[in-house]
Amino acid sequence: RSRDPNEPEFHQAVAEVVESLWPWLHREGQRYLDAQILERLVEPERVVSFRIAWVDDAGKIQVNRGYRIQMNGAIGPYKGGLRFHPTVTLSVLKFLAFEQVFKNSLTTLAMGGGKGGADFDPKRKSDAEVMRFCQSFMTELQRHIGPDTDVPAGDIGVGGREIGYMFGQYRRLRHRFDGVLTGKGPEWGGSLIRPEATGYGAIYFAQEMLATQGQRIQDKTVIISGSGNVAQFAAEKCIALGAKVVTMSDSSGFIHDPAGIDSEKLAWIMELKNVRRERLKEYAEHFGVEYYPGQRPWAIPCHVAVPCATQNELDSDDAKQLLDNHCMCVVEGANMPLTTKAVAQLQSHKILFGPGKAANAGGVATSGLEMAQNSQRMYWSRERVDGELHTIMRKIHAACCEHGQRPDGSIDYVAGANIAGFIKVANAMLAQGCL
Ligand code: NDP
Repeated sequence: RSRDPNEPEFHQAVAEVVESLWPWLHREGQRYLDAQILERLVEPERVVSFRIAWVDDAGKIQVNRGYRIQMNGAIGPYKGGLRFHPTVTLSVLKFLAFEQVFKNSLTTLAMGGGKGGADFDPKRKSDAEVMRFCQSFMTELQRHIGPDTDVPAGDIGVGGREIGYMFGQYRRLRHRFDGVLTGKGPEWGGSLIRPEATGYGAIYFAQEMLATQGQRIQDKTVIISGSGNVAQFAAEKCIALGAKVVTMSDSSGFIHDPAGIDSEKLAWIMELKNVRRERLKEYAEHFGVEYYPGQRPWAIPCHVAVPCATQNELDSDDAKQLLDNHCMCVVEGANMPLTTKAVAQLQSHKILFGPGKAANAGGVATSGLEMAQNSQRMYWSRERVDGELHTIMRKIHAACCEHGQRPDGSIDYVAGANIAGFIKVANAMLAQGCL
């Protein structure tokens, strides 16, 4: 803490991992303690911070701050998304990069952990402004990345449009067409199913968790937060599997549609958020349902809750509300959406809780599949990529069960994911010596 003051999100992420690893390390992992693996894991291999100057539509120069955290490259090139949001700080990106190390290890693919972004707010910016920002951002970032060193992807505020502008600038500056970014368009190196992968993967993981209790997601009532990439495709998969999705949200509030958001209504939301880039409030007006400004959806009764917006969006009061409403499964589509206390509450009641580093790993796993396709200069079919994604999510679930079984036979997915993710990276670090 004295080395990293004012980094609450990073401390939160590290504390959660260390607390669940600690008993296991003392039982079975003395060699990792002797080799100071934890001390090394919490120190990024490299942090780059840089100025991004760009000109807005009024001709005024704007200045933002950009970052890339190369957290751990022991098992493969650094891999992790870029976030453009005004709340981006070094602490937020370090927490995300730290989580990413374990998540990428869990996917079974050869990817180290990284994360990056900028405190730029794409909201209410014109297309031309977003392009100029992305070009300025990539002008510096391109020195630090490459298909065999560090392969960024999207995250909050970075979707297909932003990846396109950044890839164009990389290609122009480096005179190379290679797999330096994932989440590319399907006509220029992108993988089918990559946009869907995080949301689909989270629901595949929920299916596996429910199956341990003889349950299916079909006919379950699901509440989802967020209405961005992860939320949209989590909702799409729930609907396809016969569940009823009754809420979605954005940073202004949430909508509650008791009849359920069906495929047509979801297509309307996708157009609203991805094309028109407007607020979800319009859904309430258009479909005549309740809108709750400034609130989050956790008080709505449900069987399954899927937070897909941002970190710390579900606190201990919300967790109590979910428990009072007999929610049986909480699966993190977003990264660290539950506060530490909220996680502890759900864990103490032993309801099914899928932590993000396991449950939302489908996105980065499919990014790994995009890298494989780029290396081969091949495109795989939708069915093949979706099949691989589904298999990877099942394997991650199995790894959590293997390492997270409690004495009473229930599964502690937090411990399972942390231990399974840790072992592979720690062994690679041991093998590679003191670095
Ligand atoms: P998007 O930018 O596509 O969507 C984010 C959604 O969350 C939007 O609805 C946004 O509302 C809302 N949101 C963002 N910040 C806040 C906030 N501070 N308070 C309330 N609502 C907020 O991002 P993604 O869907 O890609 O990412 C969502 C989460 O999933 C993040 O935690 C991300 O790290 C994680 N994740 C994403 C992966 C991916 O493949 N995209 C992979 C693994 C994890 P508004 O429309 O108002 O901005």
